[in-house]
Amino acid sequence: MGKHTKTAGWGTPPEEALRVTVTGPIAAFDPSSTPGFTGDKDSGTALLSERGAVLADLQELLYANGRSGDHRSVLLVLQGMDTAGKGGIVRHVGGLVDPQGLTIRGFGKPTPEELSHDFLWRIHRALPPGGRIGIFDRSHYEDVLPVRVHNLIPKSEWEKRYEMINQFERDLVASGTTIIKCAMVVSKAEQKARLAERLERPDKHWKYNPGDIDERGFWDDYLEAYQAIFDRCDSDAAPWFLIPSDRKWFARLSICELLIHALKGLDLDWPKADFDVEAEKKRVAALTE
Ligand code: AMP
Ligand code: MG
Repeated sequence: MGKHTKTAGWGTPPEEALRVTVTGPIAAFDPSSTPGFTGDKDSGTALLSERGAVLADLQELLYANGRSGDHRSVLLVLQGMDTAGKGGIVRHVGGLVDPQGLTIRGFGKPTPEELSHDFLWRIHRALPPGGRIGIFDRSHYEDVLPVRVHNLIPKSEWEKRYEMINQFERDLVASGTTIIKCAMVVSKAEQKARLAERLERPDKHWKYNPGDIDERGFWDDYLEAYQAIFDRCDSDAAPWFLIPSDRKWFARLSICELLIHALKGLDLDWPKADFDVEAEKKRVAALTE
């Protein structure tokens, strides 16, 4: 396994098994598969709680370094069709770590103010500061997904955006942000089941958007638009991963593992005290009571 230490439960670590260059085209990808993972749902769920503790420790290390002036950060970009489970990742993977260390941003249809700026304006403003893990629930890729599928701007304009995105991400990486991009993939059948469930349950009506049915009608166009971002905006510095998301436990486990891998890559250590530890010990020992 080369420089990687073997990750428990995985025959091939997710940073290899789920990379778009390895999974092959999204149109032929099985959203209920569990690439690289050797266990079942029970072992995957148990593993997630174990690995959650590892993630939490690494996140605290990142936060501690941020407090000591380290400007590095991690940005998790979540994309996926409606009902793919982006919100579930924010809740269940983001929920594994101290919320103080997270910067969570969602991107909906651009406001008039956002539209009056270039498409990366709102993205720049949402980036995580040093020491944080940022999670983007949708991202700058929306500007080449629905925008491309519905030709919201002329093709000659959205065509330019792939290279603009690459440039933006290169700068971001150069300034100390580790980027992980995850495309959550659900099958049409699973999406139908999740939409039906939203209608059955009054506590899920707030998640239901009648427009999602219309978007579903453009499924193949979306697959093509997704493939274009993988073909044009995947690099070792800002990699794309395909996350099979019909099984929620697997999507959560995979993304938790990808975050752990990214944080370990920063090779962090606890920051050195900026005071004399021995002298402070003496002062504390001398306190009365
Ligand atoms: P949700 O994430 O379910 O709240 O939905 C947000 C909606 O905003 C989705 O339909 C997105 O496709 C849409 N959206 C987000 N960013 C853009 C964008 N830049 N241009 C057009 N639609 C967008
Ligand atoms: Mg939605």
